Amino acid sequence: MIVTSSAEAVGRRVRAARARGLRIGFVPTMGSFHEGHLSLMRRALGERLYTVVSVFVNPLQFAPREDLARYPRNVSRDRALARTEGVHLFFAPREAAFYPPGFRTRVRVEGLGDVLDGRSRPGHFEGVATVVARLLHLVEPDVLFLGRKDFQQTVVLRRMIRDLGMPVRVDVRPTVRERDGLALSSRNAYLTPSARNEAPRLHRALMEAKVAIRSGERSAARVRRSIRARLGAPPALSVEYVEIVDAETLEPVRRLAGRVVLLLAVRLGRARLIDNEPVRVP
Ligand code: AMP
Repeated sequence: MIVTSSAEAVGRRVRAARARGLRIGFVPTMGSFHEGHLSLMRRALGERLYTVVSVFVNPLQFAPREDLARYPRNVSRDRALARTEGVHLFFAPREAAFYPPGFRTRVRVEGLGDVLDGRSRPGHFEGVATVVARLLHLVEPDVLFLGRKDFQQTVVLRRMIRDLGMPVRVDVRPTVRERDGLALSSRNAYLTPSARNEAPRLHRALMEAKVAIRSGERSAARVRRSIRARLGAPPALSVEYVEIVDAETLEPVRRLAGRVVLLLAVRLGRARLIDNEPVRVP
């Protein structure tokens, strides 16, 4: 595995791989790897792609009072895990080099980045779109691998890629979960033992709603109410939002039909957790 912090070296290595006839797969991350990250790498490697993984805790996607300073970082462990998986190129840039002094460009995907998580995390998706645009420009992958765990992020990035005519296919992979249903996340490290006990409620509430929809429920308002009821109330847990939206436009739906997604965000102590479940309404 090649390890580098240099954007210029990434470009050179990727061009060399392409010259050898290889196709490029790319997995952008903020590090602190868990099985969710590794599942994306395995998928890329399984498709016999020259697999590039980036680790960069992107300051642009953190709002001023968020957890940038305490976000879990462990690049040496990440590097070892990526090497074990068989990743080809591991790119961990330093912030100052990645955003050179005077960097002022932002990529904003109107509408899609302002709802749901965008409402409580102003500027978040602008930061995500900007960093991924810059990374895609560097790596020029054939396939970009993203986790469905961050559903809104997949919608925002797909739209950006289409709008800017970037020649990359997006492969969205299923959410990897703990045995009790909790979606793996680097931020699960913030959960106290008692918050960890409450955390499986998120997935359970979504799955129960899915069963209700499969058995004929078509009112989004009723489904949202029942999800909220199953999530519980403060002080154990506080709900930020529960929404049911169209899977492509992210617009709220009232009558359930077609491809929709149930999404939620909650606060459990110091942790902010999100989860979602796509549903094809019969
Ligand atoms: P992050 O390091 O949190 O920015 O995540 C990097 C990539 O891994 C993103 O595409 C995430 O959606 C994806 N990812 C994070 N958690 C999971 C999970 N539990 N299952 C699948 N993919 C995930």
